[in-house]
Formats: sequence, C-alpha cells, structure tokens
Amino acid sequence: MAIVPASNGRAGGAPMASGGPGPRPCVALIVAAGRGSRLGGPLPKQYRDLAGAPVLRHAVRAFLDHPKVAATRLVIHPDDRALYEAAVAGLALLPPVEGGATRQDSVIRGLESLAELRPEAVLIHDAARPFVDRALVDRVLAALATTAGAIPALPVVDTLKRGDGGEAPAIVGTVERAHLWRAQTPQGFHYDAILAAHRACRGQELTDDAAVAERAGLTVALVVGDEANFKITSEEDLARADEDLARRRSRTGIGTSASAREETRTACGYDVHRLGAGDHVMLCGVRVPHAAGLVGHSDADVGLHALTDALLGTIAAGDIGQHFPPTDARWRGADSAQFLAHAGQLVAGAGGVIVFVDVTLVCERPKIGPHRDAMRRRIATILGLDVARISVKATTTERLGFTGRKEGIAAHAVATVRLVVPPSP
Ligand code: MG
Repeated sequence: MAIVPASNGRAGGAPMASGGPGPRPCVALIVAAGRGSRLGGPLPKQYRDLAGAPVLRHAVRAFLDHPKVAATRLVIHPDDRALYEAAVAGLALLPPVEGGATRQDSVIRGLESLAELRPEAVLIHDAARPFVDRALVDRVLAALATTAGAIPALPVVDTLKRGDGGEAPAIVGTVERAHLWRAQTPQGFHYDAILAAHRACRGQELTDDAAVAERAGLTVALVVGDEANFKITSEEDLARADEDLARRRSRTGIGTSASAREETRTACGYDVHRLGAGDHVMLCGVRVPHAAGLVGHSDADVGLHALTDALLGTIAAGDIGQHFPPTDARWRGADSAQFLAHAGQLVAGAGGVIVFVDVTLVCERPKIGPHRDAMRRRIATILGLDVARISVKATTTERLGFTGRKEGIAAHAVATVRLVVPPSP
C-alpha cells in the first residue's frame, strides 16, 4: 500500500472533505485522555508546561508539519476541554473527541470518529511524547508500504532481571534480552485493519496498539525508534525534557520545529538600597570593604537584585519581590546569589539562553574598578556563563541626588536573552 498526501495538497492538517473520491489520506490520532496519575499536581502531564508550551502542543507539531499527514485529531478527557482549547489555540486540528475509561477505549473512540474520513493509514501517538520528529514519522510511514502495522522501537541493551515482587526485591531470574525491544509511538497501521482489530479486542486490556494488532494476527514491523522520543511519566522526565529542549535550542540556535520562532529579548532591572551602619557592602556578589553598609532584608546587593529583575523581565516572570518576598523570614540576610541563580534557572526553563548581561553601579564610594573583574567572575559562576558575556560598570552622579549625597547605592542592569517561542495563534 502506498501512503499518499491528502488530495487537496494542504499541509498542516486542515480538515478535509470526508468520504469523497481520490487518494485516501493518512491521519494522526493523538491520545491525550490520560490522567497522568504518576505525576503529582492538579494538571495532567500532557498539559504541563514544557519550555513555554504545553507538552501536547509539542507532541502534535511533527504531525501538523508533516506533508503526508492530512489531518490530526486528539482524544481528550471530558474534563479537560478548557485545558485543551487553551493548549492548542491557533492550531489546525480536527475537533477533538472524548476518550473512555482506558487508553484502549480512548483509541477505539478516536478510530471510530475517523471513519467518515476513510483514512488509508492512521498514526496513533501518545501526547506525553513531545519529541517525535519528522524523520521518525517518515520511517513508520515507509514501513506501512509493505506491512499492516509498524512501530518505532529501540533494542534493549541493559541486562534484564526479574524480581520476586517483594518490597525489597531479590532477583529470581535473568531475562534473555536478545530480540527484546522497547516500544514507542507513533504506531502506524492500515486504518481498516487496526479499527477491526480494536473492535475485536475490546475489553482485553492490552497496553499498546501494536498488541491489539498482534492479537488480531496483523504483521507489525519494528522500525528504528529515537532515544529522544521518550515518554514523560514523572517529574524527573519533565525536568529532563526541559533540559533536552534547552540544550537543543542552545546548540542549534533555533527551535525543534519549523513553526517555532527564535527571538531576542532585552529587559532591564533597577534597584536601590540605603546606606547605613556597617563595614562592608555586597555588590555583584563580592564583599567590598566600606565605611558604611547597605541596609536591606537580604544582603542588600543592589547589583544582583537589579540583574535578577532584568533576567525575570526577559521572560515576563514578574519581579524579585514576587519570588522572594521581603516579608518572608527565609530571606533575612540571604545571599542574593540564590535570587540570581533562580532567575537564571527560570530563563533556562523557558528555553532561553542568556546572551549578555550588563550591570551599572551608581555610587560615589566605594570605588568599583578594583573589584570589577571579581564581580564579573562571580556573576559568571552564579549564572554558569562565560565571563566574556558579563559586563560590570560604575558611575557617579557628580555628587547630585541621593547617590551623590552617599545616602544609598543604585544599580541598573540589562539582560539580553535568546529564546524560541511557540508560534503565535
Ligand atoms: Mg533590592
């Protein structure tokens, strides 16, 4: 069988006319009806934020962008309709269908809903696998030219042990790992065959669609999977997904999808602290001996506070007072390095890469020059950046104003961040 593009030639999954003459299309069915109970929190995992967009929005992109996938439909939980609408805003998807009590029920509802489109093939994918890419979809579709089913999979390389099932399990055997594979999605099938197989296997509690196909006697080919195409089932997986995305973006300088946009953002921060009794000031993470001290709830490091606000600004994440309220006793006397580090982590979590930061300290005294390089190195350490990406400057106000009268020290900061953002609706 040949897999062909939609007859109307539209890429991007726009709904097509149903049941008419012409080549039968390939359709993607994304299963997003699970509750994700292994992940804590009120949000099902497929709606959790991954670098600025819900996990499932990442997961549908490879299908929407694929020229051979004519339409994409999601199967959602009945309670998730509002979450779904927000997550897929602006995407050209078929209207969603509501899933059932089990994954298998959800898939069969999705398959039945596609009947009027008369697809030739269907790709069934889990919404919790956000990193499926076009090459993987191509491999599955290519295999469908000669078999009724094809799934991506990876060979098992670790030695497999069987435990005795106890709370502190002991080994009762070693499982022969030759010819064992780890199944992934999207799993591709000839539509008529998988629909018939699902109808025949209703209620049998099979763990994936390939198992349904096997039970029905269909031949299912294994094609090479992708380690990056992992399934998010735990908080650790979500953190790993965030890191993977940030790493890819910093390596390529662009998003993983043609529809994502790279942009550069600049934001500024400003802070002032009053001078009072003391024998040193903390400025840009460096202890500088001085005839006075800076007064504040934390260590009153105006330089790091201004820079923290600048970084938060690049991702519109509010300001330092929101993240570290001065009313909170935890931050009394706190080392402001932790505020800056937190802002850096938030930027990275949003898929951002810090390009450059620039801090200007405004004071008559102490002299900043002798400490400038130590300050740059300290900021570099806190943010994990090359020192060449950090500038620290100083100026006076010619003895004018509060800084001129040595009542306080001010700091300005500017941060420039490159990040990939999802396509606008
Ligand atoms: Mg402050």
